[in-house]
Amino acid sequence: MNAPDTSSAIKRAMADVPVPMAMLAELTHRCPLKCPYCSNPVELLKAGDELSTDEWLSVFDQAAHLGVLQVHLSGGEPALRRDLDQFVACLAAHGVYSNLITAGVSLTRERLQALADAGLDHVQLSIQSVRADNADRITNYKDSLSKKRSFAGWVVDAGLPLTINAVTHRDNIDETEEAIQFALDVGAQRIEVANTQYYGWAAVNRAALMPSHDQCIQQADIVSAAQRQLAGILNIDYVPTDYYARYPKPCMGGWASDVLNVTPSGQVLPCHAAESLTDMHFENVRNTPLAEIWYASKSFNRFRSTGWLPELCQNCDRKEIDFGGCRCQAFALTGSASETDPACSLSPHHHAMEALADTLSSSQAPAYKYRRIGTGSVKA
Ligand code: SF4
Ligand code: SF4
Repeated sequence: MNAPDTSSAIKRAMADVPVPMAMLAELTHRCPLKCPYCSNPVELLKAGDELSTDEWLSVFDQAAHLGVLQVHLSGGEPALRRDLDQFVACLAAHGVYSNLITAGVSLTRERLQALADAGLDHVQLSIQSVRADNADRITNYKDSLSKKRSFAGWVVDAGLPLTINAVTHRDNIDETEEAIQFALDVGAQRIEVANTQYYGWAAVNRAALMPSHDQCIQQADIVSAAQRQLAGILNIDYVPTDYYARYPKPCMGGWASDVLNVTPSGQVLPCHAAESLTDMHFENVRNTPLAEIWYASKSFNRFRSTGWLPELCQNCDRKEIDFGGCRCQAFALTGSASETDPACSLSPHHHAMEALADTLSSSQAPAYKYRRIGTGSVKA
């Protein structure tokens, strides 16, 4: 593992490139759940591929020196790393805010308390459905909902702030109101209602997961009514589906603008889905210091800011708002990561994207292809 680099190339770049605010640390791809919408890559990494304890500790040291203020400890299921408490303590020693993103079925109350004692700042708990049988079907895991409800209680008892993350799709989007009620019932401060993004396993299962236009409109109405009614009680963040959008979301707030992502094997990406850009090469912290990757790597600079945008976006007054949308979605649906995201209604590909969503959502849903390690040959 290399020490932080202070080469002249990096110093020159520091004048123009902002400091990263947050890092997503994907500690492992292992997870007891098998969600068909999982954004992890189809070729999931095995435990033997993961960075060692010392390598992750070095990544966290480098991130803190780089100026990162928040680290999201994610996966897979990060609790499957036995060294998780060391990572939390390392971040706390640097004064970096730590957020544990968990499915909530792998931690005991005692281990959660130990993480809180080590300095954990926040917990984000995923829910797949608020109906027990549907939750078990989506996760392919027995009693997941009751375990999550218990876990949420332990989080609140430990005095940790709690966010509920509800990823929605065809099979649970009609439960949005109940999901918001679940967040209230368990004492969460925030819920993120996020429609499935079709990368990784979600791309494989797109035909099974795509909601209809009517379902999405109904959900948007429910969310905006709840946001009004629960202002000051529960923060509700909403990520609508791209396929029926008018404009794209500002993916990651702009490529390599303030977030970086480290995969279980040490690949450093501008977003968690960027490995789907098969025409790009990404650096690894095992070979290159984090600061050099952030400031000087080709991959981080390729779509930074707005100078690279295609002509359609260059001439649009929204270019500083959405930065042309998502590079991974542009690549997946047009074959070029340099295109305008087809989620934009001004894109020549938008109509085909919406028509595809209509066709998929009105057809009989195929069976899920459950996420599992060692099935990298599954095709979308
Ligand atoms: S989406 Fe489901 S399978 Fe994927 S990491 Fe989260 S809990 Fe595990
Ligand atoms: S044309 Fe480009 S900048 Fe304008 S709204 Fe669409 S994606 Fe955004």
